Amino acid sequence: MQQHLAAIKDSKYCPLWHDQPDIRPEVLPALSEDTNCELLIVGGGFTGLWAALQAKERKADADIVLIEKTFIADGASGRNGGFLNSSLAHGETNTDHHFPGEADRLHQLGQQNMAELLETLERYNIDAHYEKVGETEVATNQGSVDEMRKDFEEEKAAGDDVVWFDKEAMQAQVNSPTYLAGIWRRDGQDGIIDPARICWGLKRVLLELGVRIFENSPIDTCKPLGNEQMRSTALGFTITSDKVLMATNAYHNPVSAVSRTTIPVWDYQMATEPLNDEQLTAIGWHKTRHALGNHANMFHYYRMTKDNRITWGGGGAVRYYFNKGTDFASFADIPERFEQLSKEFFETFPQLAGLKFSHRWSGIIATSTRFCMVPGATYNGRLAWAVGYTGLGVGATRFGARIGIELLGYQPSDILKMQFVTKKPMPWAPEPFRWFGVKFTQSALVKADANNGKRGLWLKLLDAMNLGFTC
Ligand SMILES: Cc1cc2nc3c(=O)[nH]c(=O)nc-3n(C[C@H](O)[C@H](O)[C@H](O)COP(=O)(O)OP(=O)(O)OC[C@H]3O[C@@H](n4cnc5c(N)ncnc54)[C@H](O)[C@@H]3O)c2cc1C
Repeated sequence: MQQHLAAIKDSKYCPLWHDQPDIRPEVLPALSEDTNCELLIVGGGFTGLWAALQAKERKADADIVLIEKTFIADGASGRNGGFLNSSLAHGETNTDHHFPGEADRLHQLGQQNMAELLETLERYNIDAHYEKVGETEVATNQGSVDEMRKDFEEEKAAGDDVVWFDKEAMQAQVNSPTYLAGIWRRDGQDGIIDPARICWGLKRVLLELGVRIFENSPIDTCKPLGNEQMRSTALGFTITSDKVLMATNAYHNPVSAVSRTTIPVWDYQMATEPLNDEQLTAIGWHKTRHALGNHANMFHYYRMTKDNRITWGGGGAVRYYFNKGTDFASFADIPERFEQLSKEFFETFPQLAGLKFSHRWSGIIATSTRFCMVPGATYNGRLAWAVGYTGLGVGATRFGARIGIELLGYQPSDILKMQFVTKKPMPWAPEPFRWFGVKFTQSALVKADANNGKRGLWLKLLDAMNLGFTC
């Protein structure tokens, strides 16, 4: 059997972060009767959890119900790579494209959000296995080296704390024969975390603060009730609330304004067994523990865990399925995706031949046409949403949650006047155009990656329309 196939043969389909019986909390009972509340939050991922906490911090006596379709952390929030990044709008270029003039403010808000996020974890004694390792980008072709060098010069000139590694220096940091250069961005507090630990830590805190949480309780409908209230249903029971926050991200939402904002893009990931001393020495990564990604359209993101495993995701395995497919039975565990990931892993680290993957999993990324979160409100401010973080939501969800609750009247601030909040995203095209468009774009991105990053006509057209597409 080929070595990349042998490596995944005995892996189990389960997000590494979920596989922690010592800290995984009991699933709470489902909704079993009609109820009333001031604020109903739909979705138990980072957005819903942070929204409940910030609403409580702003109004201690707020009566809040949080309702989750399956269990807390079962969405993207418990399935991601754990890269904690302060960017709110997916990088500077995207920020300038979509929110001209707001880059400085968004940067400052991103830093503030990150500081407050870490401070909150500390205050509530949530150990997220946070490691402040910055963010490291590697070049695997000459086109990337040239572009990254330009970026590095600009960032250095702007006073950022960045380090350039040439080929030898980069390979001394992490030994992959594919590396031609690297940039280590050390500014701020970017780093890596264990995402389920944050979700489950927040769940504990919310229960202590009196938030009522129902799991295994999918919301089916949500409609206005008179001029003052909202009426939602789940499992045949009714929740009457003054306000509703939709925090369902990539999943179908009964309110079409929310659902049409994003498309679900599937991303696949794996985790190796813990590396032994010999394997660690062979790559030398454990000394710096860089959070790595390669400079490419279809990029890989990978990092070490506390127990010296490697998690490995992204690359060419990322997919959009026709008509917003989110069915786990059909799309979550497709062998070809993991085979491709495994092959790409051993191309990057051939010296780890023989290493096995213990876990494989997948998750759904909510991609918006502006490539970052989209907030919105309707029904006279009684229903709001914060969805669509694309691939960068571990940190940004706390800010998205803040916007969501401010839109619902919990201490609104001047951030609500920013284009980031007021500007409507371009809608996604209907099917089958959407599927063809995404497919065509993805193959153009793959082609560009194989061609030293050179973008063809289609990608140039999309660039001109400020329509980034990747995750
Ligand atoms: C594989 C993968 C890797 C990623 N890696 C990174 C990374 O390294 N760094 C980074 O910054 N971002 C990353 N992201 C993105 C990041 O994880 C998300 O942006 C973030 O978790 C979104 O949080 P959320 O709470 O908005 O959505 P989710 O975590 O998806 O939560 C939505 C919740 O709503 C629930 N729900 C849906 N419908 C209903 C309903 N009808 N009723 C009740 N509940 C419902 C779902 O079950 C789910 O729990 C990654 C995403 C994926 C999928």
